[in-house]
Amino acid sequence: MQPGYISLYQSGELRRRAEALESRLVSCDICPRECGVNRLEGERGFCHSGRLPIVSAVCAHHGEEPAISGSSGSGTIFFGNCNMRCVYCQNYQISQDWRKQQSREMDFHALAERMLYLQDELGCHNINLVSPSHFVPQLVRGVLEAVPMGLRLPLVYNTSGYDSAKSLKELDGIIDIYLADLRYASDKWARKFSQAADYVEHARAAIQEMYRQVGELVLDEAGLARRGLIVRHLILPNRLAGSQESLTWLAEEVSPAVTVSIMSQYFPAHRAPRILSLSRTVSASEYSEVTELVDRLGLENGWVQELGASDNYLPDFEREGYPFSPTGASLP
Ligand code: SF4
Repeated sequence: MQPGYISLYQSGELRRRAEALESRLVSCDICPRECGVNRLEGERGFCHSGRLPIVSAVCAHHGEEPAISGSSGSGTIFFGNCNMRCVYCQNYQISQDWRKQQSREMDFHALAERMLYLQDELGCHNINLVSPSHFVPQLVRGVLEAVPMGLRLPLVYNTSGYDSAKSLKELDGIIDIYLADLRYASDKWARKFSQAADYVEHARAAIQEMYRQVGELVLDEAGLARRGLIVRHLILPNRLAGSQESLTWLAEEVSPAVTVSIMSQYFPAHRAPRILSLSRTVSASEYSEVTELVDRLGLENGWVQELGASDNYLPDFEREGYPFSPTGASLP
């Protein structure tokens, strides 16, 4: 299966999409915050990001879902900065320290070179774009640059879910696999813990748009994802993720056949140790409550992470090259 962006490149549509998205940077409405700043002139909105992409780490990632990581790893590009401010963010070193990330800005050719490095030198299965919501125009421009250089891997849009449906529409046919969080069912907690007071409405609209574009997960003969939607749900302590409401919504309003990834790896990172309700990992009873719910709702496709996974997934972006363990790939 050839990634959709190849034919869009050949028809000229990929260039048109890049230009349409870039024109919106003049009064930025790329994500739901709609800051209205002119990113082409160096003004910075909530995400502190300008015209060029910021790439904070590049590696073959072996800790994603089996259909994403496979045997050779997912070719992961971690964008710097974020349009959310999760108090428990595991990637806070690169998502919430915008002054440091400024030095990691790169031009589009360099971004395309990173994609080719992951494809040709590391032999990864896909290009996994992590925290792309504030860099949608930049990622499309990067792909436009990378196609004539030989890029052929499927693209994974790996997002916290706080996305603009209008921006996602421009990605129709470009993104092959959406890997989207559904973090909250309550705007009260989304505002308090992630500074995203209208998260629920936008994340649900985004997931419906993603599902409209790519539908259910399609695997190849090796069990690797080629196309489709995976919805991730991170269980939070004290039921703060609203698992019951979110998963019920997913089964009833999207589809019981949608692929879900239930994550138990919550760890009180960053500011969370100082917030009582978020200062511990998930308990056995909280975990089984969610796994039983998944069964009851008939959500049969996907993965449920084992309890006790919280120690295995903590990245350290201060570590040179590879954030997940002392060994592995290094930056090109
Ligand atoms: S992408 Fe950044 S500047 Fe644009 S609306 Fe979102 S937070 Fe604001």
